[in-house]
Amino acid sequence: MARLHNLGFPRIGAHRELKFAQESYWKGESSAESLQLTASTLRKRNLTLQNDLGLDWIPVGDFSLYDQVLDTSFLLGHLPRRFRHEQDIPTLDQYFRVARGRSRQGAPVAAGEMTKWFDTNYHYIVPEFEADTRFTLNAEKLLNEAQEAADLGIPFKPVVLGPLSYLFLGKEKDNGINKLDLLDQLLPIYAALLARLSEAGAQWVQLDEPILALDLDATWQRAFQQAYSTLAESSEALPRILLATYFGALQDNLPLALGLPVQGLHLDAVRGKSEVPHALAEWPNDKVLSLGVIDGRNIWRTDLNDVLSWLEPIHAQLGERLWVAPSCSLLHVPVTLNDENQLDPELKSWLSFAEQKLQELALLGRALNEGRAAVQAELDANAEVINSRRTSDRVTRTTVQQRLQGLTKSLFERQSPYVVRAELQRERFRLPAYPTTTIGSFPQTPDIRQARRRLRAGEIDSVTYEQEMKTQITLAVREQEDYELDVLVHGEAERNDMVEYFGEQLDGYAFTRFGWVQSYGSRCVKPPFIYGDVARPQAMTVAWSAFAQSLTDKPMKGMLTGPITMLQWAFVRDDQPRQVTAQQIALALRDEVEDLEAAGIGMIQVDEPAFREGLPLRRGDWAHYLAWSVQAFRLSTAGVRDDTQIHTHMCYSEFNDIMAAIADLDADVITIETSRSDMELLDAFNDFAYPNEIGPGVYDIHSPNEPAVERMVKLMQLAAERIPAERLWVNPDCGLKTRQWDEVRHALRNMVEAAKQLRVGTAQPTFDQGADLRQETTA
Ligand code: GLN
Ligand code: ZN
Repeated sequence: MARLHNLGFPRIGAHRELKFAQESYWKGESSAESLQLTASTLRKRNLTLQNDLGLDWIPVGDFSLYDQVLDTSFLLGHLPRRFRHEQDIPTLDQYFRVARGRSRQGAPVAAGEMTKWFDTNYHYIVPEFEADTRFTLNAEKLLNEAQEAADLGIPFKPVVLGPLSYLFLGKEKDNGINKLDLLDQLLPIYAALLARLSEAGAQWVQLDEPILALDLDATWQRAFQQAYSTLAESSEALPRILLATYFGALQDNLPLALGLPVQGLHLDAVRGKSEVPHALAEWPNDKVLSLGVIDGRNIWRTDLNDVLSWLEPIHAQLGERLWVAPSCSLLHVPVTLNDENQLDPELKSWLSFAEQKLQELALLGRALNEGRAAVQAELDANAEVINSRRTSDRVTRTTVQQRLQGLTKSLFERQSPYVVRAELQRERFRLPAYPTTTIGSFPQTPDIRQARRRLRAGEIDSVTYEQEMKTQITLAVREQEDYELDVLVHGEAERNDMVEYFGEQLDGYAFTRFGWVQSYGSRCVKPPFIYGDVARPQAMTVAWSAFAQSLTDKPMKGMLTGPITMLQWAFVRDDQPRQVTAQQIALALRDEVEDLEAAGIGMIQVDEPAFREGLPLRRGDWAHYLAWSVQAFRLSTAGVRDDTQIHTHMCYSEFNDIMAAIADLDADVITIETSRSDMELLDAFNDFAYPNEIGPGVYDIHSPNEPAVERMVKLMQLAAERIPAERLWVNPDCGLKTRQWDEVRHALRNMVEAAKQLRVGTAQPTFDQGADLRQETTA
């Protein structure tokens, strides 16, 4: 009998119940009890759902009121120093204070840093390690959740982030400390925790060690060996340990993982499928192998017959030592398809969210354990759906395919190199030194939101809506002229979201109503899904941009979302390589870029905030990703004339390791974030002569504080030490949509003033020396 289990279930609730409960608690509108009640209702619902599907082991401890890594910090009794003396604040508020910098009690404080969970769109609170970091076991939450399951008679399996991954994901805050030195202190806590869980009736505990799917150096590999041996020897009465790895193949960590003294090992058999035969060849006789065969990172139905053909021989080999599961926690997919009653039925039939994935798992289990014949009808139905997706003419578009076939090298190249273009652009736009601009969006005011809501509700028609948007655009243009900005934007009033706006207008994209996925805390995103060849039936932004340009003599930047971001922030089809989908999007955007140009828009910004986050987890895979993603960007932008200026924007500047790729995008201008680090992030430019123009964000738009002129001048001077002044732009570090007009007004006036001060004594850039500028940065 193969066993079935799950690694984790989404906690937000099918209708984001958790989000609304959290936010209402934070606002002081409801009590802690009511938040906890929502939480326990959600947990019980999830437990019951999984139990009813017949899973053998159901995860507990996968629920969180904010983040599971923060939960682990609390479990280990480890708070950052600045919170340690706040004994009078209730634990729940303490918890939210670390998460958000504030809760219902206590003065505001710096929140824990948040960062991306591997290559997902989930963000966790980074553990902070300090010289005086100490751990104490604080297992109440986990034990309570185990008890909840036990009370329902549900076979539970506690899930805990493993000690190595916990340390790895944290940050050393004090000089001279090494987080691996904390392992000796941490292991007794884990040992005590395992013993407690065993007492509480846990037969298995899932220790998540996803870092085994990363490049680990020998020190970390040795630490794994040492840690798990120590745990194994710590007590007789331990539960069995299932070591869970996910998000990729283990590669050179595989022998290490196989040799660890644990009773079971979970492998991601979606991303790491090709590695499974190697693992099986070495499989120890006494170990459970859990195979994650259902994709926990995507929303497509599984080809169950295909998976079965692959699993059956493994089942024959391992018998009940084979466990079957999703590839990773289902946290990264939406909760259920059940309520998607507005979704096209055919598209819906191709999808599988968390609940449906577990149904697929249950079906696999029956087919393995009772034989395919017992579930033949269901397997046939699955085959039919898989086939319908494979053969649907909604997926394949001949025109798109033909265009892809016909791609030639020249489509990826601007007509002339940057130095030539820059000269032509200078003549065309006649900008002052240190030209000022913004990143694209202006405040999304209540008026704007209301107009959108009313259009959707059918309370106003599209003509009225359009009028309202034009009013907003006019307002944004007048404001910018008032501040004397040099390059204007239309303000993006008509866009709810930078991906959704384009996805809704492109063929091949579709949207769900409730397909929410947790991004962090109470924040959820609803990524579109790309099911078919992407094409642009008609221009998407041209009318808005042309209208905005008609209002002013200053250059108006066209504003598009780039191919990698359009890909990265969606669920992507899995029936062709990602780079092919990226090329299709790039072609659609290329047409838009060319239409904007034809409509007289001389500057076009193609945003790529998700460019860096698309980097694969393994360094060995970087070059391939960077090659195709750079090509996709170039394909979307290279079709313009030399005197059309291509901008791009990325909301970070941790470029050190991908500098060459950034330069390779060959955008004429890139705007990035740097103000929070006092331009230190620009140090990357010391070693690499970035060849084109750059706008290092001079103030942090995430803060409501008014940026001071002097500080911005100073920051630009620091920038000018690294990059020739002739190629510098002055701009905020990201879009302004989350700010108030009042804040924007003060900030941008100051920013323009800073640019004016910088210009005093600055000679006009002489671009005929352009070729020499390349050397200047290395000098
Ligand atoms: N143009 C977008 C804006 O200004 C860019 C947003 C982003 O970088 N995420 O909002
Ligand atoms: Zn940004």
